[in-house]
Amino acid sequence: MTVRVRIAPSPTGNLHIGTARTAVFNWLFAHHHGGKFILRIEDTDLERSRPEYTDNILAGLCWLGLNWDEGPFYQSQRLDLYKTAVQKLLDQGLAYRCYTTPEELEALREAQKARNEAPRYDNRHRNLTPEQEAAFKAEGRNFVIRFKIDDDREIVWNDLVREKMVWRGSDLGGDMVIARASEDGVGQPLYNFVVVVDDIDMQITHIIRGEDHIANTAKQILLYEALGATIPEFAHSPLILNMDGRKLSKRDGVTSISDFQKMGFTPEALVNYMTLLGWSSPESTQEIFTLEEAAKVFSFERVNKAGAKFDWAKLDWLNSQYIHHMPVDKLTDLLIPFWQEAGYQLDGAKDRPWLEQLTAVIGPSLTRLVEAVEMSKIFFSETVEFSDEGSKQLQQEGSSAVLSAVIAALESQPGLTEATAQEIIKQVVKQQNVKKGLVMRSLRAALTGDVHGPDLIQSWLLLNQIGLDKPRLNQAINS
Ligand code: GLU
Repeated sequence: MTVRVRIAPSPTGNLHIGTARTAVFNWLFAHHHGGKFILRIEDTDLERSRPEYTDNILAGLCWLGLNWDEGPFYQSQRLDLYKTAVQKLLDQGLAYRCYTTPEELEALREAQKARNEAPRYDNRHRNLTPEQEAAFKAEGRNFVIRFKIDDDREIVWNDLVREKMVWRGSDLGGDMVIARASEDGVGQPLYNFVVVVDDIDMQITHIIRGEDHIANTAKQILLYEALGATIPEFAHSPLILNMDGRKLSKRDGVTSISDFQKMGFTPEALVNYMTLLGWSSPESTQEIFTLEEAAKVFSFERVNKAGAKFDWAKLDWLNSQYIHHMPVDKLTDLLIPFWQEAGYQLDGAKDRPWLEQLTAVIGPSLTRLVEAVEMSKIFFSETVEFSDEGSKQLQQEGSSAVLSAVIAALESQPGLTEATAQEIIKQVVKQQNVKKGLVMRSLRAALTGDVHGPDLIQSWLLLNQIGLDKPRLNQAINS
């Protein structure tokens, strides 16, 4: 058997972290088994689906490296298939038209509530006579198509994550709506139904999705049976929770992959982190791996049942690991869009060499790519802003004299290198009879406006190269 799995996002919002993590587990499982990973866009909800969300979803999956083998397939282009399947169930007497009005359903719900019962449809139109149907039609009532669910049916499956699952037909809310009214009398098919038709048609062998779909699985198993198809395996992955243990939501700040991208996470770190959201490697100390490496050892035996807490500190740590181990030219490629977005003027080919040097200087201090904007501000503006500590440092006794001596030494240097920069510092210490610390701190404050920051000598070399070091030193002396 060839493993065939799918990710089936609804384009009613940007690619969500939960959907992306489900995609990761599907991808890992497919690659572990040398199977196929299929992408299906579930865009049957015409009111809420938007093409820009589809674009966001496709771009997000590509950015994360979650390439798919087949698709994308669009449900909106497959309506005929679903209608044929609805008709088949109608013909077999497994589904029927229900003419209950929204007001009648509301009254039913109210009555159930008053009796402290769970809301459910009471299957009242299951056995209408042709005369009754004709009378409802004559009244101009709309219909939905319902699939018969027997209350005393027991639905059992062996979930690859949650093990044995048992549901009763009576827990499923009565005969389920599989299609809404439409002109042709067959109806506009709904989610729970079209998913099954598609999964059968696409020969999906394993359905891997979030545990919020468990109740759907119970219903869908009945549909597989009704449509005469083989029931696939199911794996329900745990939900992603915030640190308070509640389901991660918009209130927690970011939830879509494009938000994480804007915040400066690298795709490799984010996808690595998502792999660990609910799964752990058999080599439990190993936390950093590529998708391919994780795929080699991935199995549902190591997927937790309990919800996975989203830990920002861990994601930040992973991100910094990826950034710190990245070759400078690749990191420069990743930083350029952030600098551009911040409005810094860059001339691609001309600026590239010093941008790579800048990257080498700030790279080791970065946790998120976006931090490069603030950290490299001093290299992109003519003048520097002084922090309180920076100004204080420049007011220290001897600071101005030290800086004047540095300028004088610079005048006599044809070009600055790491060795000459060190030599200048040594000279000034001797000449001014001051501690090296004073020279270093004053230089840093003058050049960067602050007392903390990236490597001083490297920053100085860079500022020298772009002609900003002498103006900075003069600005500091005169401030
Ligand atoms: N379209 C569904 C969703 O976005 C997924 C359906 C499924 O995986 O079965 O939640």
